[in-house]
Amino acid sequence: MSLKHQIARKEIIDAGNQMVNSSLVIGTWGNISVRIVDEDLIAITPSGVDYDKLISENIPIIDFEGNLIDGNMKPSIELPMHLEIYKKRPDIGAIVHTHSTYCTAMAIARKPIPASCEDLIQIVGGNVRVSEYRLPGTDDLGKVAVEALDERNAVLLANHGLLAAGKNLKETIKIAFICEKSAHATLLAANIGGAIELSKEECDIMRDFYLNKYGQR
Ligand code: 13P
Ligand code: ZN
Repeated sequence: MSLKHQIARKEIIDAGNQMVNSSLVIGTWGNISVRIVDEDLIAITPSGVDYDKLISENIPIIDFEGNLIDGNMKPSIELPMHLEIYKKRPDIGAIVHTHSTYCTAMAIARKPIPASCEDLIQIVGGNVRVSEYRLPGTDDLGKVAVEALDERNAVLLANHGLLAAGKNLKETIKIAFICEKSAHATLLAANIGGAIELSKEECDIMRDFYLNKYGQR
C-alpha cells in the first residue's frame, strides 16, 4: 500500500469517528471519500460498517470506473454519486454525506438552506439547494446531486440528507458542520419571523473574501 493511500485511509477513519461522535450520522449511515491526487483513484468508506470499528484495510481504494483496487470490503452504496461528483468537479478533493438532524429536516421538507448565515455563504457559496428525489445508491442520485451542487460546496438530497464537497477532508467536514448549524438556525428563525436572505451581490463579496483573503496567508 502506498503512503498516499495510507494517509487517505487514516483521514477517512478519523473523520468517521468525528462524524459519529458529533451526531452528524447515527449508526452506519452516511459516507466519506477522498480523491487520491494524480492517481485517478478515490478512497471511500465501506458499506454498512460502524465508523468506530474501521481499520485501514477495510477502506476500499476504487478507480474512476468503480473497480476495487485495494481493500477487503465492498464500498459504500453511494459510490456512483461520489464518482459522479469527482468526475464533474475537478475542484473537489473530498466528499462527506451525512444524515444529520437539521439538514434532514430541510431535506424532507424539500426546502433549501437560505443564504442567510455569513459563514454558510462564505464556505458553500450561497444557499444550499435541494436536489430532485432519486433512490439511494442509484446512478441517477449522482446525476441530480451534481446538478443541484452547481458552483456550490453542499447540496441537500431530497428526503435523505446532506452532501458536502470541498477541496480536502478537513474543509469538507467543516462544511458539513456549518450546514447543520445553518439548517438549525434557519428552523429556529422560522419561529420569530423567518431568516432573511442576503443579496447575490453581498453573497459574491463574502464568497470572494473567503476564497481569496480570509485567514492567514
Ligand atoms: P453506506 O453504508 O453503503 O455508505 O450507505 C449509507 C447511506 O447513507 C446511503 O445513502
Ligand atoms: Zn445516505
